[in-house]
Amino acid sequence: MRPAARAHRAEPEPSRERGPERDREPRILASVSHSSRPPAPRNDSAPAPAHSARIAVVDDDKLIRERVAALLRSRGHVPTTFDSATKLLEAHKNTAFDLVLLDVVMEGISGVDACRILKAREEGFVPVVLVTSRADPDARVEGLRIGADDYVCKPFEEEELLARVASMLRIKRAYDDVATSRNRMAELAVLDDLTGLYNVRYLQQRFAEEWKRAERHREPLAIAMLDVDRFKLVNDQHGHEVGDAVLREMSARLRTSVRDTDVVARYGGEEFVVLLPSTQLSGALVVAERIRKSIAARRFETPRARLEVTTSIGIALYPSRGVTSKDQLLRAADTALYRAKEEGRDRICVYQEQMYVFRADEG
Ligand SMILES: [Mg+2]
Repeated sequence: MRPAARAHRAEPEPSRERGPERDREPRILASVSHSSRPPAPRNDSAPAPAHSARIAVVDDDKLIRERVAALLRSRGHVPTTFDSATKLLEAHKNTAFDLVLLDVVMEGISGVDACRILKAREEGFVPVVLVTSRADPDARVEGLRIGADDYVCKPFEEEELLARVASMLRIKRAYDDVATSRNRMAELAVLDDLTGLYNVRYLQQRFAEEWKRAERHREPLAIAMLDVDRFKLVNDQHGHEVGDAVLREMSARLRTSVRDTDVVARYGGEEFVVLLPSTQLSGALVVAERIRKSIAARRFETPRARLEVTTSIGIALYPSRGVTSKDQLLRAADTALYRAKEEGRDRICVYQEQMYVFRADEG
């Protein structure tokens, strides 16, 4: 039988609020550059843009190219000129432009075709403005139909061109902001607030996937369940702030002890689970022992105390006798963890029908 204290572990403790210093920065995907604004614009009447953007100017007419580039530069943007669509497409593989100004009539790949190619690419939103002659309505319609975001007629008024550029960059920034938030939301939805490790929801999902894969291909799958030895004492003697610091440090050491392919999650309270795909007993023991040692090796620095912390680890493997479902695998790891506690903590126990306790050489 299990002690009652370990019964309600399915959910992280709701009382644990996020610590003040999360070490994870939001992932920034926005590609509009927010760097310092270049020197004052030549045109005094119009306000300079709040953001400097990387803009590709594609035109086979050198005069137009240079005039547009100078105009953009005067507003603090960073233009790059190309005399053919081919060169633009080549450069766009390495440089993410915030906006592309595309001449329609060019030798080789036309502006419309280049636009189609740019729009077919998946990465983010790159506004494309077609620059067409007034006498060319078909190209304009075709351009918009295949996804160009706007067009400017040649010969163009400088202010009109700049206004359309500014408007496109506003849309681009809004798009990027949304993409950044969405990524951040997606990240938050799968991470544990306190530790930044994966949360239970993500673990369940990955575990289901890994189990299916293991079962289908008869691949090995190992799972390790571990917790902080005598964690209740830490909280009782030093308070929750210290308890939280211990969990964060534990998480940091876990992260550096596992392999890239392993999945580390906070299972709730002071419990953690590591999924080890395609891993046999020997490999699982290596990882588990690395974890155990990394925890015991140095004291934990917390706001009010330097603590000696140890961890007990239960390992279960698939395939093995008595394990025919993913729930059984998880339960087996749990049973092994419980046994490791009984055996005296700071150790690794492997679930087999005959339980097997692993004792590493000291040191
Ligand atoms: Mg042309």
